[in-house]
Amino acid sequence: MTLDPAFRTALDAELPALIELYEHFHRHPELSMQEHRTAETIEERLRGYGLEPFRCGGTGVVAVIENGDGPVVAFRADTDGLPIEEQTGLPYSSEATGTLPDGTSTPVMHGCGHDTHITSALGAAKLLTEHRDRWNGTAIMIFQPGEETSAGAAAMLDDGFWDRVPRPEAIYGQHVWPGVAGTVNITPGTAMAMADSLEVIVHGQQAHGSQPENSIDPIVLGAYMITRLQTVVSREISGRDTAVLTIGVFQGGLKENIIPASARFTINIRTYDEAVREKVLAAVDRIIRAEAQASGAPDPEIRPMYDFPQVVNDADLTESLIGALGDELGADAVNVTLPVTGSEDFGRFGDAIGVPYVFWFFGGYSQAKVDDPESVLSNHSPFFGPDEVGTTLGTGVRAALTALLGHLGAR
Ligand code: ZN
Ligand code: ZN
Repeated sequence: MTLDPAFRTALDAELPALIELYEHFHRHPELSMQEHRTAETIEERLRGYGLEPFRCGGTGVVAVIENGDGPVVAFRADTDGLPIEEQTGLPYSSEATGTLPDGTSTPVMHGCGHDTHITSALGAAKLLTEHRDRWNGTAIMIFQPGEETSAGAAAMLDDGFWDRVPRPEAIYGQHVWPGVAGTVNITPGTAMAMADSLEVIVHGQQAHGSQPENSIDPIVLGAYMITRLQTVVSREISGRDTAVLTIGVFQGGLKENIIPASARFTINIRTYDEAVREKVLAAVDRIIRAEAQASGAPDPEIRPMYDFPQVVNDADLTESLIGALGDELGADAVNVTLPVTGSEDFGRFGDAIGVPYVFWFFGGYSQAKVDDPESVLSNHSPFFGPDEVGTTLGTGVRAALTALLGHLGAR
């Protein structure tokens, strides 16, 4: 099934405005659960399309596009930026700053590409409202804050999201990634990993830097913990299973001649299997406490920061979407791929009420950039920024419409 030509014509006409809108969002990113201006801009646009958006979960925005009797289907876009100082050199680079939960100021960047998600979803919403004669039913457009901290979907659900919109028969979502613009990657079944983030406070004993014998050095102790934690995946997890363990933060001390009282680090864990997850978490806890004991240090604090559920794409919906996207974008443009180790809170919406869902990835780069070994293309890098913006957004809109109209059909 390809999109009705009316949508393609309208998309071609709309694309320059969408690129401008994307550049606006890129220039003005906001941190998780602080997407105030972003939410206002989204609301303004949706009102401009004749819709009546409402807030849910603070900075979450929802628009229900009603168009007579027919199926109900939902589409979700996430809206937050990251504490990264942009180095893309793009003319519309971010100069935004934000305040982290601990009070520190940080540069902010749309380093995960959620600006493409917002813009694609707004583009799809606009085309749906403009071409009501081409479909029947109800489309729920979800603009979710706080994906990066796993707080946003939970906040919307806690705010009674499913009591405020009709129950859909399916939920869709997408993520830009460093693939070739115009292509999509889609995974039947388990598509994304579970994630657990932990904060560890290592307690020692403060002393003068010249008198280590009077200290319990939390930096040396933390270094041992972190080094030993590298053996969890390599020595305790079977080669048949998958786990990733990353220490993204290690902080301690203020001055070179003071051995500090404490140090702090964070752990990020990705797994696909609950038994593997529990094994990793238990090993992490055991190693951290045992290393503290080995140093004669007080018991460290291990605090869960947040966790992400797995994303498990519905087999039947995924299969029909692969066919539909192949028709719309070209069979060569649709790659059926293995699960990624990234994580998402997208699945919470469907999991909460038992509605099936599909989440896919769409490319953001030129073939030349993807082939260039010098280019750093990873999401969350300070260099992340699609260079094929028109094709990227166009594909984002077409993929979203293909998924939605697969249910809402033709009149
Ligand atoms: Zn993301
Ligand atoms: Zn991200």
